Amino acid sequence: MAREDYEVVIGLEVHSELSTKTKIFCSCPTEFGGEPNTHCCPVCMAMPGTLPVLNEKVVEYAVKAGIATNCEIAKNSKNDRKNYFYPDLPKAYQISQFDMPLCERGHVEIETENGPKTIRITRIHIEEDAGKLNHDEYGRGSFVDLNRAGVPLIEIVSEPDMRSKEEVEAYMRKLKSILEYIEVSDCKMQEGSLRADVNVSVRKKGEIKFGTRTEMKNMNSFRSIVRAVEYEANRQIDLIEAGGEVEQTTLRWDDISGKTFPMRDKEDAQDYRYFPDPDLVAIKISDEYVENIKNNLPELPESRKKRYIEEFKLPEYDAKLITASKYLSDLFENATKVCNNPKSVSNWIMSDITRILNEKEIEPDEIPFTAEQLGNLVVLIDKGTISTSIGKKVLTEMFENAEEPSKIIEKNGWVQISDEGAIKEVVMKVLEENAQSVADYKAGKDKALGYLVGQAMKATKGKANPGMLNKMFLEELKK
Ligand code: ADP
Ligand code: MG
Ligand code: ZN
Repeated sequence: MAREDYEVVIGLEVHSELSTKTKIFCSCPTEFGGEPNTHCCPVCMAMPGTLPVLNEKVVEYAVKAGIATNCEIAKNSKNDRKNYFYPDLPKAYQISQFDMPLCERGHVEIETENGPKTIRITRIHIEEDAGKLNHDEYGRGSFVDLNRAGVPLIEIVSEPDMRSKEEVEAYMRKLKSILEYIEVSDCKMQEGSLRADVNVSVRKKGEIKFGTRTEMKNMNSFRSIVRAVEYEANRQIDLIEAGGEVEQTTLRWDDISGKTFPMRDKEDAQDYRYFPDPDLVAIKISDEYVENIKNNLPELPESRKKRYIEEFKLPEYDAKLITASKYLSDLFENATKVCNNPKSVSNWIMSDITRILNEKEIEPDEIPFTAEQLGNLVVLIDKGTISTSIGKKVLTEMFENAEEPSKIIEKNGWVQISDEGAIKEVVMKVLEENAQSVADYKAGKDKALGYLVGQAMKATKGKANPGMLNKMFLEELKK
C-alpha cells in the first residue's frame, strides 16, 4: 500500500510555564535565565525538612486556562508525587497531579482546509518544572542549575484528535494564542515556556483501532514539530509496509539530521508510583471562585476581531489574521494609538511585516521594534516626510536594529524631497532625456506618464514626493 492509504493520528501533551512572579511551592522568582542557582531557596533545592506551600496564583492561572479551553473545573483536586530519579530533580519526585486534575473535558476549535474542527482536551493539570543540566563542552561532566526547579507549569493533554501536521500546527498556534490572551504564560518557545510532547501513530484508512504510538519529547518550535510529525509518520508507514511493527517508545527528534532516534531511558516502562503529597492540603474550588475568574477574563481574540471590524473598519480576513496572535494584535492596537491610522497599520502588518516574519522564520513575539516605533513610521509617511517605498526600507532596517524610524531616515538621508524647486529640476531633466515617452504621452499613450514618474523616482532613489511629481509632470506635458 502507498503512504496515501494511511492516516496519521496525533495527540499532544503541551507544557506551558506560567508567568506567575514566584514559583509554585516557594517564593523564589520564576524569571528566565540568571546566574545558575541564584533563583533558589531550600524548598526548591529540596533540602530535607522543608515544606512546600501552594502558590494560589498557580491555581488561578490554571483555572483561567481551563475556562478559556472550555474545560470543566474540578471542585476537588489534589497534588501527587510522581517518583523518578534524574539529576535535575533533587527531590527524586515531581509534584504533579495524577487522578484528580484541576480541569477536564475541554475543547478548542481550529481552522483546517475542510473548515473548522474541534480538538478535545482530556485534562489540564498543574505541576512543577525540573532544573536544568548544563553539559560541560569539554565532556568533564554536567552542572546542575536549579533556577527552573519549581517554576509552575500547566500540562494540557489533548485527545488523539489530530490527523495531519497542519492540524498539529493549527492546534499549537491556537493554544499559544489563547494562553497569551489570558495572560497566563508568555509562551516564548525559544525559552522553553511552551513545549510539546508529540505522540504519533499511523493506521490504514478506514481502520477503527489506533496504531501503536511513539512519543517525541520536549519539542519547542513549530517548524520542528511539523517536520517531526511528517518524518515519524513516514518512518512508521515504511516500517509497517516492510513487514515490521511499531514499538511504543520515546524518541528524540534531531533537528539537524531531520530524524528521530530512540531515547536510551525507557520512559514508558517506568512506574511512577504516584501518591498524594502528604505535605500539601487538598485543593477545593467554589463556584464563586470560578465565576469570578470567568467574569474577569481578558478580552479574547473573537471579541477583538469583532471590534476591529466595527471600530476600525478592517476587512474580516485582516481582523482574523491580526487577532490570531496576541503580539500582532497588541502591536496593531498600540501603533494605531500613536498614528490614528488603523488601515495603514493593518496594511503594514498584513503585507511587509508578515513577509519579513516568514523570511526570517521568526514569530511575532520576536519582533524587535516597539508598537510606538511602528506608529511613528506611519506618522512619518502620513506627514509626507518619507514615501511608502522608503517606508519599506525603514521597516526592513527596524527589523535589523530597533531604532526610531526618524533616526534611521536621518542616518540614511532618506527624507522625502518635497521642495518644489528640486522636484521641478528632476522633472525637467527626465523630460529632456526621454523625448520618446513625451511624444508617446502626447500621442495618447497615458502609460508613458507612469514611466516618466518611475524615471524621476529612480533618479532621486525613491525620495521624490510622488504626488508632487505626478502633478508637475502633468503640468509640463500639457504645455
Ligand atoms: P502517557 O501519559 O503515558 O503519555 P496517555 O494515554 O495519557 O499516555 O496519552 C498521552 C498522549 O498521547 C495524549 O495526548 C493522547 O492523545 C496521545 N495518544 C494516545 N494514544 C495515541 C495514539 N494511538 N496515537 C497518537 N496519539 C496518541
Ligand atoms: Mg506522555
Ligand atoms: Zn525556592
